[in-house]
Amino acid sequence: MDLVSNPIPNNPSITLETPIITNTRAMISPPPSSAISTTPTTPPTTPSRYENQKRRDWNTFCQYLRNHRPPLSLPMCSGAHVLEFLRYLDQFGKTKIHIHNCPFFGLPNPPAPCPCPLRQAWGSLDALIGRLRAAYDEHGGKPEGNPFGARVVRLYLREVRDFQAKARGVSYEKKRKRPNNNNPKSSMSTAMITSSASTTTS
Ligand SMILES: [Zn+2]
Repeated sequence: MDLVSNPIPNNPSITLETPIITNTRAMISPPPSSAISTTPTTPPTTPSRYENQKRRDWNTFCQYLRNHRPPLSLPMCSGAHVLEFLRYLDQFGKTKIHIHNCPFFGLPNPPAPCPCPLRQAWGSLDALIGRLRAAYDEHGGKPEGNPFGARVVRLYLREVRDFQAKARGVSYEKKRKRPNNNNPKSSMSTAMITSSASTTTS
């Protein structure tokens, strides 16, 4: 029973000498270039042409408000101001609109030049208002207060459409019924609307 008194404490020195337990750290080194990963490599969505146009139109309108005398802010903006804006754009128009007294009134293809004014084509204005109306919504405007959806704007556009149809001798009726009509020359001049933004204060 006393044989157990034989201790084996002769190797404590060895155990302390082998601190090779540090291999838990021997993991894979962390990615050193973690800081670079913040740059987005692929844009989520490329904005469409419509979205681009809408943004430009919106910027143009906001600039118009800033240059307005007296100054106008977006919440103050009414349908009447939108009409003002549309008439302002007419000076950049490229569509000949014959006046009543012009001998070419109602002629789609006038045989000679005339001094009638150039205006924004109805189709351009109609599309523009649609984009601005959407942009107003997207910028937090209240739908019931959207000046681009105001009744007076709708009436104005209808008026412009009817008059331009008569003056130019073209029809803006829905095309789905009679697709035989030669297109009423879509001289869309919305592109210059945006370019006019930089020259508002002449
Ligand atoms: Zn004319």
